[in-house]
Amino acid sequence: MPSSRVSVQDNEERSCDASSQKKHWKLADFDIGRPLGRGKFGNVYLAREKKSKYIVALKVLFKKQLQGSYVEHQLRREIEIQSHLRHPNILRLYGYFYDENCVYLILEYAARGEVYKELQRQKVFNERRTATYIASLTNALIHCHEKHVIHRDIKPENLLLGFKGELKIADFGWSVHTFNKRKTMCGTLDYLPPEMVESKEHDAGVDIWSLGVLCYEFLYGRAPFEAPGHTDTYKRIIRIDLKFPAQPVVSHQAKDLISKLLVKDSAQRLPLKQVLLHPWIVANADPSGVYKD
Ligand code: AMP
Repeated sequence: MPSSRVSVQDNEERSCDASSQKKHWKLADFDIGRPLGRGKFGNVYLAREKKSKYIVALKVLFKKQLQGSYVEHQLRREIEIQSHLRHPNILRLYGYFYDENCVYLILEYAARGEVYKELQRQKVFNERRTATYIASLTNALIHCHEKHVIHRDIKPENLLLGFKGELKIADFGWSVHTFNKRKTMCGTLDYLPPEMVESKEHDAGVDIWSLGVLCYEFLYGRAPFEAPGHTDTYKRIIRIDLKFPAQPVVSHQAKDLISKLLVKDSAQRLPLKQVLLHPWIVANADPSGVYKD
């Protein structure tokens, strides 16, 4: 495979946007570069659209692995939803195509990779960094909810970082267009809100809950309701067994925000627009959405 060596910066200088041309893409339209990561159903490569020189991430999914499972349905939903959302903190899906063996997703390239890996490296994030990410995510979720989309699977593994370090929500596999309350159980255990643990109806409030879990995990380096077994985690979530360890030291205001997000009754969780006005966010989040050391 030929390697792609055009810098990401070049993307910003080019007017061409892979999505602006309503064309039928094919693999031959791209130079394929280095692998960016390996997913459950295929691999992601850095790629460059030959004509425009536009840099993208090409997700290659093997049809064989997708077939005959709920995943096929999830993928359709992901494509449908993600291609219609336009927000600086939501990873763009420019288009897709397929051949005999694979489905290809043309995605915005997130140059700084996964938030999860960054958190693993740093163990915890400081308050300014956490607040900046939480504010960016809140803005993205406001956009999703206005479009009647709930993500339902917000967690560090589904968050990528752009060229400047700006947060991007990726992976809409569990997201759903919603006009009614839903009952499907989905998402990752540590991030499940009580109403989903109890298989009750849920709504956009599930994303507000996961914002609280994420804020906690960024600041403390682990999820708030972690327990040795699934049953214990479920129990801690249902009881809202929220404890703030003495170490690392975290401000009262940060804990105040987390406590207002991790509320059992979804209707009582702090509304997203008020998250942006919370004193801890106002004092700590960088308005540019980019955390600078
Ligand atoms: P996924 O199949 O979506 O879990 O992707 C597998 C891995 O590829 C991720 O964990 C990321 O490290 C990387 N990756 C996926 N999408 C992108 C992207 N748009 N830009 C940069 N890296 C990506």
